[in-house]
Amino acid sequence: MQVRYWDREVETQDRESLEEKQLEDLRVTVAVALNTPFYRKRLASVGMQSAEDIRTMEDFYKIPLTSKDDLRDAFPYDMLAVPLEQVVRLHASSGTTGIPTVIYHTRGDLEGWTELAARSMTATGMTRSDVFQNMMTYGLFTGGLGLHYGGEHIGSLVIPASSGNTKRQFKLMKDFGTTVVHATPSYLLHLHGKLGGEGISTADLALKKAFVGAEPHSENVRKKIEDLFGIDVYNSYGLSEMNGPGVAFECEYKNGMHLWEDAYIMEIIDPVTLEDREDGAGGELILTTLKRTATPILRYRTRDLTSIYPDECPCGRVHRRISRIKGRTDDLLIINGVNVFPSQIEEVIMKMPESGTNYQILVEKSGALDKLTVKVEVGSQVFSDDARDLNALIERVKDNLKASISISPAVELHEHGCLPVYEGKAKRVFDLRNGDADDIIKR
Ligand code: AMP
Ligand code: ZN
Repeated sequence: MQVRYWDREVETQDRESLEEKQLEDLRVTVAVALNTPFYRKRLASVGMQSAEDIRTMEDFYKIPLTSKDDLRDAFPYDMLAVPLEQVVRLHASSGTTGIPTVIYHTRGDLEGWTELAARSMTATGMTRSDVFQNMMTYGLFTGGLGLHYGGEHIGSLVIPASSGNTKRQFKLMKDFGTTVVHATPSYLLHLHGKLGGEGISTADLALKKAFVGAEPHSENVRKKIEDLFGIDVYNSYGLSEMNGPGVAFECEYKNGMHLWEDAYIMEIIDPVTLEDREDGAGGELILTTLKRTATPILRYRTRDLTSIYPDECPCGRVHRRISRIKGRTDDLLIINGVNVFPSQIEEVIMKMPESGTNYQILVEKSGALDKLTVKVEVGSQVFSDDARDLNALIERVKDNLKASISISPAVELHEHGCLPVYEGKAKRVFDLRNGDADDIIKR
């Protein structure tokens, strides 16, 4: 495979020079962070008053972790490190819990982000000859604008389609010969389901690649999208606190996401004991910005669960890879004392050929016990089968789930198109034990 680099020097430098530069940039970042009321106080609590206090990485590890709640408490300006005149944009994270978290960017910050986006997209083999249709939402959410500027920077033709409006997405794809799309994995599955209804087949499309991100998805979902469209699908990881897309991306080898370590320091910790777990055991990803000036963030708890791959990637990039996100520390379901991640359930469902592209997980109280129900979409032909076959399929889904998560859930089969579809991040888990009485739920 001929590897394509955006910035060969930065991507293939040796480990030692990368780490030296990280420490240098870390000191600059700490100096900038000390301009904010939040970090002045936070760093003073561990006796740090200036960047001089960071001499080695051991000093860095003394810095307390920053949480999402810290960002909320600092709303709106306690984490802003430069005068407002230097700020040219803000993004805010999905504020489902009330107060949003706001990230400010200087012009330089945006340029840095665009570089990372262009580097990420190039790593998948994308070039300026590609036609890039961006189906992520444009706005406060970072999915739209982040890769938009990356695509332009590469020089490809960017179609700022934004999310939703399936009919128009198809028309744009056909009219302009779209070769690369960016969307949530659930939206791409939904899109495929609508192809036939529009009288289109995948052979009418020039599509070659898709970048998928913004929500957890299993390897089986990747395979499903790849098979349905006959394309290559690359995993893209990012979060608004760290810019957005362009934090970690798969290269053409599709074997985990290179996390751009010249721009971020990554650590993996045990989310309970907070101890370092960089030995491949996996845990919560902690990130520190190294290039940002408006909103520098030190040792941020992403709540995302992953691990660092110890081996080198054949592409020759020095930046280490992280595994697919297994879930978030806050989406672990404890069902009658058994720990279950929604991703385990998805893995099982998506492996079964009968299952469609959508599912829902419901947890509720049944007397003193917890009850887990898994709703799975299946093709309509399943319903025309003999009732005995239907029951046999339900039993098979149950058995497969039991083998993976050690509990036997109730399983419901639904006809394709019956479960809700989301244009942005999909909501698939409804934990009614905690009053998650989202009325979108269809019962
Ligand atoms: P937001 O800041 O609203 O863009 O949300 C960022 C969060 O989306 C991350 O912290 C992850 O939990 C999730 N996310 C983003 N990209 C991925 C991905 N490729 N796989 C799994 N989860 C993702
Ligand atoms: Zn690679």
